[in-house]
Amino acid sequence: AAEPLRKPSWIRVKVGGSDAGRFAEIKRLLREQHLHTVCEEASCPNIGECFGRGTATFMILGDLCTRRCPFCDVGHGKPLPPDPAEPAKIAASVAALKLRYVVITSVDRDDLRDGGAAHFVEVIRAIRAASPSTVIETLVPDFRGRMDVALDVLCADPPDVLNHNLETVPRLYKQARPGADYAHSLALLKAFKARCPTVATKSGLMVGLGETDEEILEVLADLRRHDTEMLTIGQYLAPSAHHLPVTRYVHPEVFVDYQRAALKLGFTAAACGPLIRSSYWADKQADAAGVV
Ligand code: SF4
Ligand code: SF4
Repeated sequence: AAEPLRKPSWIRVKVGGSDAGRFAEIKRLLREQHLHTVCEEASCPNIGECFGRGTATFMILGDLCTRRCPFCDVGHGKPLPPDPAEPAKIAASVAALKLRYVVITSVDRDDLRDGGAAHFVEVIRAIRAASPSTVIETLVPDFRGRMDVALDVLCADPPDVLNHNLETVPRLYKQARPGADYAHSLALLKAFKARCPTVATKSGLMVGLGETDEEILEVLADLRRHDTEMLTIGQYLAPSAHHLPVTRYVHPEVFVDYQRAALKLGFTAAACGPLIRSSYWADKQADAAGVV
């Protein structure tokens, strides 16, 4: 195999953040209450900033995925049934941490009839009851094979922002997202927007998996054709030598070009940069898009 590419200088983990005191307080509360965030578990480079801003991402429905995407670090296996105590636990955490903006995501649950949609809704309801002013973004799986039932359930009590990541360009789906389907993911975004027109829709891509810039621009146009309003694009970083290799490190200036192109296409918010993750500065993006 080829030697891994060297990381350029602009890929580095930031320490601290906009509010170091708040960051430390959130860390302490998480330890005290035995809570787990994606932010810490994925060693996200933005954790100082996000915690400092009162934003965090929680994973629900367990930590075993029914799929196995070769860029992803989540464990694979037979998941446990949804934990009925989880919605209350997440809601208590959001309240204790006084989060202003929370992102709720999950593994793929191809084993559940509704793909886990009902559990998402229970979590949304519980957070709203305990923290009415917290903005809730759900980063959902593709609900493939069960889209209608999942959307019926989800639209009964929708989030403030519905995010579903396309992750990469269609040519690379087979390799990078086995089990997923590009056209289906686009259809999910469009169908959700049609049912819940007041809820903002959002999607995200990683670069460095083998795509070209032309292909990225085609995906952005496809997203707009499917009524997606907010966008994130970030650099893929291989979690280990056993994951897909990084094919290129995109220069920060090229990310600026992506962002310009996105705004020109009509996205209301576009966060593009090497360290952008789909939940990075989610509150600011939502502000820009007029969601909150
Ligand atoms: Fe990871 Fe999502 Fe793929 Fe599961 S479906 S392996 S959580 S990227
Ligand atoms: Fe957490 Fe997302 Fe922020 Fe990373 S970008 S620290 S995962 S909220």
